Amino acid sequence: MVSSLKSSERLHCPVCDDVHLKDWGSKSGYQLYKCCDCTHFFADVRTNPETLSNSEEFRRHITNELMASDDAYYRHLCQGEIKGAHTFVTANLILRQVKSPGWQPKDWLDVGSGSGFLVAELKKIGIDSVGVEPGGWGQISARDKGISIVNGLLTEGTFNKRFDAVSATDVIEHQPDPKPMIRLMKRYMNDNGKMFLSFPFGDSLPAKIRKGKWKMVVPPTHCNFFTYKSFSRLADNCDLKIERFYKYSSSGFRGWKKLGLSLSTANRLMDAVSLGDQALVVLSLRNSTDK
Ligand SMILES: [Zn+2]
Repeated sequence: MVSSLKSSERLHCPVCDDVHLKDWGSKSGYQLYKCCDCTHFFADVRTNPETLSNSEEFRRHITNELMASDDAYYRHLCQGEIKGAHTFVTANLILRQVKSPGWQPKDWLDVGSGSGFLVAELKKIGIDSVGVEPGGWGQISARDKGISIVNGLLTEGTFNKRFDAVSATDVIEHQPDPKPMIRLMKRYMNDNGKMFLSFPFGDSLPAKIRKGKWKMVVPPTHCNFFTYKSFSRLADNCDLKIERFYKYSSSGFRGWKKLGLSLSTANRLMDAVSLGDQALVVLSLRNSTDK
């Protein structure tokens, strides 16, 4: 599901709805704002036309016009599956939770499944996994990896069952209005289920220092940047409880190749000094007793 803000709406924080915003720079012609209340920052994409009526327009939107075909974008996404690269690192952080004692999910829904890497890795360890992907590369991943991917946006009618786990990696930063999507994902969770969300981390040093120049700020496709405070507010608004919050690196640091390091080692060094600019959050349904 991709939801959008209407141009007629007064500009407000997409997490807490506060209208007290401060200028946070600009990028590619889009103005950035930081919420004075919850510290969330975001790009004003209200003027961006709705571009999701077919798969070609969806690809143009999601890649900021950079990819000429679904096949080219699938190959690009697969580069992230190499050891130490972003998709590999994120999926392995999630898989570590699955392999830890005390929680053994039987089925799994991955929303915005991209190259299908996580769906395929879960299938390898015996979990009944399915992805949902509106981009044409989703069906390419299904054929290439032998996995199950539903073509389209997640809706209330996509499945008539719930899952032990629901995930969306690198998806919520693309949502101009993230709350409806997270609430929809929540509807697909079993009572004891877990939700996994990964996104660029707005409290990281690169984000704080570089603001609009931070490499993760690529509007209109990346338009929302969560800090710990703003993500906590979002989870609270959606009646979800944060179980774990990981900060990690997936792109090493400038010059890591010249030093003869592997990307995995460069990431570990960044993690050791807590300089990663990505976040992975594990959530559960909040019981009334937690309130
Ligand atoms: Zn806010």
